[in-house]
This record gives sequence, structure tokens and C-alpha cells, in this order.
Amino acid sequence: MKFKQQMLLVVSFLIVTGFTVTAAVSFFISREAALDVVVKHELPLTSDNIYAEVQRDLILPRTVSSFMGNDTFLQDWILDGEHDTEAVTRYLKGIKDKYGAFTAFMVSENTRNYYHAGGWLKQVSKTDPRDEWYFRVRLMDEESELNIDPDMANRDALTIFINYKIHAPDGTFIGATGLGLNLASIKQILSDYRERYSNNVYFVTQRGHVLLHDERHEVAQSLHQEPGMTDIVQSILRDPQGSFSYERDGKTFLLNTRHIDELGLILCVEAEQERVFDVLRPSLVVTAIVCLLVTGIVLVLLLKVIRHYQAELESIAWRDPLTSLINRRAFVDRYKGIRNQHERSGAPLSLLIVDIDHFKEVNDRYGHNAGDEVLKRVSDLLSDILRPSDLVSRWGGDEFLLLLPQTDLASASEIAERIRGCINGDSSLSDIVKQGLSVSIGAAEQREDFDLDMHVQQADSGLYRAKAEGRNRACSG
Ligand code: GH3
Ligand code: MG
Repeated sequence: MKFKQQMLLVVSFLIVTGFTVTAAVSFFISREAALDVVVKHELPLTSDNIYAEVQRDLILPRTVSSFMGNDTFLQDWILDGEHDTEAVTRYLKGIKDKYGAFTAFMVSENTRNYYHAGGWLKQVSKTDPRDEWYFRVRLMDEESELNIDPDMANRDALTIFINYKIHAPDGTFIGATGLGLNLASIKQILSDYRERYSNNVYFVTQRGHVLLHDERHEVAQSLHQEPGMTDIVQSILRDPQGSFSYERDGKTFLLNTRHIDELGLILCVEAEQERVFDVLRPSLVVTAIVCLLVTGIVLVLLLKVIRHYQAELESIAWRDPLTSLINRRAFVDRYKGIRNQHERSGAPLSLLIVDIDHFKEVNDRYGHNAGDEVLKRVSDLLSDILRPSDLVSRWGGDEFLLLLPQTDLASASEIAERIRGCINGDSSLSDIVKQGLSVSIGAAEQREDFDLDMHVQQADSGLYRAKAEGRNRACSG
């Protein structure tokens, strides 16, 4: 692999690595910060808001149910033999209307009669699954419970019942009473929270039974049945407030819990961890695009800089700085290729050596700068006269070596003569050198047994002759 490609690869690698590391670090820091916000602020805040709404919707009914359970009117009415159904109906209707409950009810242990705001409804029976709740309440240790059941008195609408035991003054169990609340309105609160924050909200009894949840949220009937919660379920049920994380269906959930002692329920608010990361993903994409753009731009600039300096270095190594003609080194290098081509094709190839006459005198009389100007002008004239396929080089000092492809000695001599005449009659040169400038030229055609040195020697002997014969002329070697 070339040095240039290696450099580009190393630079790309460094930029991409730099961006990747920076992006990864900032992603992880933002991720932690985002998780912190969810765990410490969003979930507790949601929990507070729901608690406030639940308090409004559930705690007052529970207090009312508690009053009903301890109301002497109900105790006396049952103990007096349940004579005036009208009276108990008025009582239950009054409470239902006053507190906006869905239903208000009372069951007597003695007759097993079920009364509600519309009067006598039925007799509860151990064999009817709908009446199971009564026989559970009868035997439970606690004074009250929250339960969800269809309400037979209201076309089987799902209802939260707050069931309270009624005792005689001597403590004997004589019935159960309480209120039923519309489940739909409470479920609506849970749906709203899910919609607004994509948080799952559900209520769990102190035994871990999931009492209430939004329909779209898949949840086990009991926290004990949730495999990911095995390690945390005891803490959830024990600690008044808690913050947990657990795995469900391959996803991680952040869970905030809070005990609502007034209801005997635990409020659970949870967010899917992935949702938190979703917010950060666009910034990762932006970073990747910026990285690609910056890498692309840097590579293009780098390539330009490398090319620029490469050209400059090549120019320094291969060109004469004064005349901008190729130097001796470049000439030698190019000569080999051209010579081989001609050898294969058998085409003629000629050399001309051009040397300025009395150039030392030019320097001495007009100064070194004037001498430089003369060299530049002569090289410009040579480049103009010759074909693009010809090679014009500064061989050294005031000597120029010209290689003429596809040119035999006769044509080379003609070209030499043209060069001589052109330089001799050039007005720009006459402006610098008052008495005019001339060149002597030696010409030689390539022979099979010639290498470059021999070929140059041959042309040199032509030049020697031209000088000896009085200068300002072209001779073949
Ligand atoms: P001749 O006719 O026999 O060639 O006489 P000459 O004076 O030209 O003799 P010669 O070719 O030996 O002299 C070359 C001179 O060119 C000597 C050197 O000081 C001068 N020279 C070589 N390189 C440069 C250059 O880059 N700039 C200038 N101004 N002079 C240079
Ligand atoms: Mg000279």
C-alpha cells in the first residue's frame, strides 16, 4: 500500500475512532442522565398525580363505606328483623346519590337478602359464583376489602366494590355493606397516563394480586407470577415506597411503587427503559452523519494538500527553478523511455545541444540578473519553437539539451538552424544584450550502439565544431 493511502486510512481511522468514542461516551452519560430523570422525577411525579386522583376517586368512597359499616341505623335495622325495606332502600339511595357512587348495597347475614338503591335485589347464595365475594368477606380477618366484580344491579358493568363488614354491638358479624364505583372512570385515568407518558399504571393488593390495570397493558394476575419480579416482589409488598427495575419479555422496565394505606393498595408506575433511549437515538444518528461528513471533508482536504505538496516536490526534484524547464535528472529519466520506443519502431531520434555564445560576458557586462533574464528568454523561445512531443531541458549553465523524437539528422539540423535564427533575431534579447545574442548548436542522430552519454558526446562534438568555426551556427557531430 502506498504511503498516501496509508496516511488517508490512518487519518480516517483516527477521526472515526475519535467520533465513535466521543459519541459512545456522551450517549452513555446522556443515557444515565435520562434514566435518572425517569427514575427520580418522572415516575414519582406520575405516581403523585395518580395518587391525588385516586384519593379523590377512591378514598372518599372508602370512608363513606366505613361509615356505613359502622352506622347504627344499619345495625339496628338488621337486628330489628329487616321489616321496613323502604327505609333501607331510602338510606342506600341517599348515600349513592350524595356521593355519586355507581351503587350502594347491603347484605344481611341473617336473611342473606341483598338490598341496593333500587330496593331488594336477590338473596345471595353459596352456589352462585357471583356471590362468592360475600362468603369471602364473611370469613376474612380484615374489616374491609376492595374488589372488582360485575355489578348485577347495573347490567353487569365492571365495578370496584368497597366491601365493609357490619357487626352487632357484641361483635357478631351481621352483614356486609359498601359502595360500588364505576371502574371505567378509574381505568380512564390509567389510560390517560399511558397515553401521555407511555407509562404503565396498575394497582396491586397488599398480597400482590393485580387489581386494576389499563387494558392495553399485558400484566400477570399476580406479581408472584411475574418471573422477572421474583427478587423484588417482597420489597414491593413490604416497602412503603420503592424504585425497581425488572425484565419482562426481554425488555427492561423501571418500576416505581407506592403504598396507599387508605385503600390497602400498592400503586405501580412503570416505564420501559428502551423508551428512554429512543429519545437519545436521533442524536446518535446526527453524530454519525456529522462524523461521515467531517471524515469525508478532511479526507478530500488532505488529498488536496498531499497532491499539492507532491506536485511541488516533484517540481523541485525534476524542474530547473530558474527556467521551469525539466532538469538534467528528468531528462535522463525520460530519455530512456523515448529511446526504447524508437529502438522498437526504428524511427530516427535526434539530440541538439544549444549553448549561448559568450554568456560569461553577458553576466560580466550586464550583471547576473540580466544573465538570468537571458536564460529565461532563451528557454521560452526553445519551448515555443519545438513541438510538444520534443523534450527541452536545461542541461547546466548556459547549455540546453533538446530531444527530438521521430527526427533524423537533416531535420534536426533544419530545426537547429531555425532556433539559431530565432534567438539571434529576438528583439527581447536585444533589449537586454545590446550587441545581440547568439547560440551555437551541436546536432546528432541516435545510433544503435549509442547510449545517452555517447549520443550527447556526439552532439557535443558538433557544438565544439560550431564554436571553433566562429559561433552563431549549428553543426552536426
Ligand atoms: P562560450 O561562447 O565559449 O560558450 O563562452 P561562454 O562565456 O558562454 O562560456 P561558458 O559557456 O563556459 O560560460 C557559462 C557561463 O554561464 C559561466 C557561468 O558563470 C554562467 N552561468 C551558469 N549558470 C548561470 C545562471 O544560472 N545564471 C547566470 N546569470 N549565469 C550562469
Ligand atoms: Mg556558453
